[in-house]
Amino acid sequence: MNILVIGSGGREHALCWAIRKSPLCDVLYCAPGNGGIAGVAECVSLSPNDFDAIVAFVREKKIGFVVVGPEDPLVNGLVDRLDAEGIKSFGPSAAAARLEGSKGFTKDLCAEFGIPTAAYGRFQDAAAAKSFVAAKGAPIVVKADGLAAGKGVTVAMTEAEAAAAIDEIFSGRFGSAGAEVVVEEFLEGEEASFFALCDGNYVLALATAQDHKRVFDNDQGPNTGGMGAYSPAPVMTPELSSRAMKEIVEPTVAAMRARGTPFKGVLYAGLMITAEGPKLIEYNARFGDPETQVLMMRLASDVLPLLIASHDGTLADAECHWKDEVALTVVMAAEGYPGDYKKNTEIKGLAEAGAIDGVEIFHAGTKAEDGKIYATGGRVLNVTASGKSTAEAQARAYRAVAKIDWPQGFCRRDIGYRAIEREKQ
Ligand code: ATP
Repeated sequence: MNILVIGSGGREHALCWAIRKSPLCDVLYCAPGNGGIAGVAECVSLSPNDFDAIVAFVREKKIGFVVVGPEDPLVNGLVDRLDAEGIKSFGPSAAAARLEGSKGFTKDLCAEFGIPTAAYGRFQDAAAAKSFVAAKGAPIVVKADGLAAGKGVTVAMTEAEAAAAIDEIFSGRFGSAGAEVVVEEFLEGEEASFFALCDGNYVLALATAQDHKRVFDNDQGPNTGGMGAYSPAPVMTPELSSRAMKEIVEPTVAAMRARGTPFKGVLYAGLMITAEGPKLIEYNARFGDPETQVLMMRLASDVLPLLIASHDGTLADAECHWKDEVALTVVMAAEGYPGDYKKNTEIKGLAEAGAIDGVEIFHAGTKAEDGKIYATGGRVLNVTASGKSTAEAQARAYRAVAKIDWPQGFCRRDIGYRAIEREKQ
């Protein structure tokens, strides 16, 4: 079967790398792809939001299955369009992707179905939101309702900071994503991610992971799209994972089905492990980036039948096995990220780094030109390694980082520190 993956990040490189290994995969295409993906798939310059062009390409190349990576085309209805054209694809409908596309929608669903999450209010005007903040006090969390690429959330330590965040959202900076504000109780605990595959009805727990959002070591500096991740997350004991399934993910999938908008695809729950147990911070309706890179390293089963079963509604019968290993990924970013950064700087040493046992280099923002690789994005490479422990995976990943010759790049030096601390205990 010919396969088309939509997207251009490290997540899509990891998905293409895993799909390429499937005996079910004939020709693999990626739209638009990147310099690293070009090594495992044929990259085609199509925009993920140009649905007409995607449909035409699928017909021309006789593609049997489309895997949608990023949230934008999902929230904009790519899967609905493909369905309407009779084309099989992986991911939720636009109605189901609202779990990621509208924080207010998800909070209301949690309230209606008793799913543990932070207490909240939804507001369409600043004065009402500020009175809620005044009544609750700080610390408190202010969020733009819609997709804001991780930039629409402020964890406010003072009421003044919360008020400023409310004004900023209503200033129009986030466009329609900022038409509404959600104000939430501040939750204390350790964060972890929980990934489940859904077919509208059945939920298959995949794995847990933890990421590192801040740009600098020791969780300093501004938030980013993620500077590294590892799986599994030791904080998620089997008991906590089972609670996350029973109390959060399964009731959500049942609620979406009951409402006539069944959820298919990956449900990625961002959790806070509080003193009372796991509480939902947010849902993403797709694979995480960079978490997918570590999940694909650990997955022992063929990924393609799993993705197809999610579409077909046959997940209950699917095989899913994991290697008894830890995987860890270090993000290399361009100097200046998450602010302004230089583009088109050359990266060398990738072959030497990738040759280290247990290491894979996934590209997040690169292009290949004349046999050379150039950085084109903020987050550029995901240096990913597996090992018997987080410490071993980390040592391998940093050994590979040391081989990469890219003076304009940087990375955190402490990815995995929480898990390594736990391993020492
Ligand atoms: P991203 O896309 O970057 O994951 P997002 O914009 O969808 O983020 P959230 O995940 O809801 O937003 O929040 C971003 C971060 O803010 C969380 O990872 C968490 O660290 C913090 N946060 C969000 N809600 C709360 C809360 N209620 N209590 C404490 N911290 C919170």
